[in-house]
Amino acid sequence: MPVLLPLPLAGAYDYAVPEAMEVAAGAVVTVPLGPRLVHGVVWHGTAAGTVSAAKLRAIASVVPTPPLKPALMRFIDWVADYTLSAPGEVLRMALPVPAATEVPRPRVGWRLVEAPAEGARITAERARVLEVLRGAPGLVWTGSDLARAAGVTPGVLRGMAQAGLIAPAPMAGLADQPLRADAAAPALTPAQAGAAASLRHAVAAGGFGVTLLDGVTGSGKTEVYLEAVAAAIAHGRQALVLLPEIALSAQVIDRFTARFGAPPAVWHSEVAGARRRATWRAVAEGRAPIVVGARSALWLNFAALGLIVVDEEHETAFKQEDGVTYHARDMAVVRARLERVPCVLVSATPSLETLANVERGRYARLHLPERHGAAGMPEVAAIDLRRTPPPRGRFLAPPLVAAIEETLSRGEQALLFLNRRGFAPLTLCRACGHRFQCPNCTAWLVEHRYTRTLQCHHCGHTEAAPQTCPACGAEGSLTAIGPGVERVAEEARALFPAARVLEMSSDTVRGAHSAAAMAAMIENREIDLIVGTQLVAKGWHFPHLTLVGVVDADLGLAGGDLRAAERTFQVLHQVGGRAGRAAQAGRVLLQTWNPGHPVMRALVSGEVERFVTEEMAERRAGGWPPFGRLVAVIVSAGEAAVADAAAAALRRAAPAGERFVVLGPAPAPLAVLRGMHRRRLLLKAAREVDVQALMRDWLAAAEVPRAARIDVDVDPVSFV
Ligand code: ADP
Ligand code: ZN
Repeated sequence: MPVLLPLPLAGAYDYAVPEAMEVAAGAVVTVPLGPRLVHGVVWHGTAAGTVSAAKLRAIASVVPTPPLKPALMRFIDWVADYTLSAPGEVLRMALPVPAATEVPRPRVGWRLVEAPAEGARITAERARVLEVLRGAPGLVWTGSDLARAAGVTPGVLRGMAQAGLIAPAPMAGLADQPLRADAAAPALTPAQAGAAASLRHAVAAGGFGVTLLDGVTGSGKTEVYLEAVAAAIAHGRQALVLLPEIALSAQVIDRFTARFGAPPAVWHSEVAGARRRATWRAVAEGRAPIVVGARSALWLNFAALGLIVVDEEHETAFKQEDGVTYHARDMAVVRARLERVPCVLVSATPSLETLANVERGRYARLHLPERHGAAGMPEVAAIDLRRTPPPRGRFLAPPLVAAIEETLSRGEQALLFLNRRGFAPLTLCRACGHRFQCPNCTAWLVEHRYTRTLQCHHCGHTEAAPQTCPACGAEGSLTAIGPGVERVAEEARALFPAARVLEMSSDTVRGAHSAAAMAAMIENREIDLIVGTQLVAKGWHFPHLTLVGVVDADLGLAGGDLRAAERTFQVLHQVGGRAGRAAQAGRVLLQTWNPGHPVMRALVSGEVERFVTEEMAERRAGGWPPFGRLVAVIVSAGEAAVADAAAAALRRAAPAGERFVVLGPAPAPLAVLRGMHRRRLLLKAAREVDVQALMRDWLAAAEVPRAARIDVDVDPVSFV
């Protein structure tokens, strides 16, 4: 029988089935491989190599875990084929060991006690815990869910147990979570209700179809797709909701909890140990009706999938760049097709890929025209830095400073956005001009002032920030060039000494808990001014935030990436969408040296359609995606000469034809990364070209030195 191993091998290996063992396709088994026993899955089709029956080794055991569903196996084959990966590498994502192979131990959670101990002290924190528990009587909460929902530390729960206020209770699995499809549905506006009805119908009818759900930030898209999720669970099916940065999505998960009366199953890389095992199994056994997850959740073994939702579908975080390179949004559509279920793509700023599919009539579109309730769209204005530049060595222009002052004096909150970590992106010696560069990468070192270090944001190289120039020995000559969030926060603290400033970047926000804690501080108005990277652009809802200042609106436009304009528009629109989401009107100020740029004009005028039309026209004229296909080939080697030789070999073997062209090789923008020399080639083809077949022939024909490594990226998103 063919057994696929989660290893980078060409295909499945053949194994004998011992007498008295019963196995079918999909079964998880252990098999001998060399001297070891490894996990694998009995595959469909035939094995790659043939071995004489006498030499065939036998399957060692069948693992007592749910077999992989046929649709998931087809999905694995499909993705391997599309991304030009080994099927076993794709399987590794669907068969996380040990989560998928070990029997989860019963877990213990918390519940209310029937007769609470009298005289126990009820602090504000304890009261919140009791309120959460009373909100869903009979429900057993995991410690971390309960602590998060109540905004307390796990220590508070232990204290309450000792005081006899709550009691431990077994959780056999997620099946015990009694989700209610009708728990807390709000009254929808007519536009929302229309969209929701349409999605409910698609879910009830079943079958494959893709719908784009778009509408400005705050228009109720989440509210609408929750209705589709409700429809799925009402029909006894599972719903998968993919979020780009799930670890930071506490607010969204809380909305699921509020809407359905119990927390959803959550799946991402931070979910570990017993919880990971329990979740994998609950999904495979159909006991987890709702899964909210990162792109890796796409690989779960759903027992009865009924719906896939991809929220913020335009986000580049859905593209996995290492290992198997795949785009989770695109592969979500593929999985939905193989599972014959509807797929909903959600965004305020849909990708051009998705909009092109709407234009071609392949995707349906549901549009929500306006913000919910009293909230209007924020007013967007550009601050022309040529006319009103910030004072020397500072980064906030006078009009922005004035607006922050005004906002704070009204007791409202402001957000300063700069998509750059650290204090300064470049350090320079004023005496000799020396610049600090990473020893492993073609990149400047970024100063991080709190940790007094210089860091490479590509490879993680870190060194202590020196006092003297290592090149010329001058003292006190090192100068920070340009701003990062740390520097803007420093400037803000100096300008507004009374304001409580919070910095949010991946240096200060460490995982789900710290993100949730910061969000709670903002909601509780313990913060006046937030300074943050793209981490703050995501779906947060802060009712008292009324001003968003973009420190460097031009930042993303540099570099000439194919999608630079589209992406800048998306991220600035998204971060601007944080302003004025409740009663008070919001305002967005963009600091720019180029207010005439189409992206700035579109943001200021709100003429989204026009921007999209112009951008589409440019892509169409150039034959770029979504009107053409790209496959990137990245050659890397420890020595530059080897990288060059490999790139030249690929060039010589490059296919030629009418409908496609091979560009390059050229040094990658990050010509050296982690000590590896990198060269890039790009296959650019018309949409109807079978690029996978072309690539396979090409790679087979090229005589590449063994010391070079070749990575293939189908539909590349990053070009560094
Ligand atoms: P989007 O996903 O489009 O950004 P949300 O679904 O997050 O929008 O809605 C924005 C805010 O408005 C949320 O706080 C949401 O709960 C609220 N909201 C949206 N629609 C309704 C409704 N029909 N009734 C009550 N509140 C609503
Ligand atoms: Zn580096």
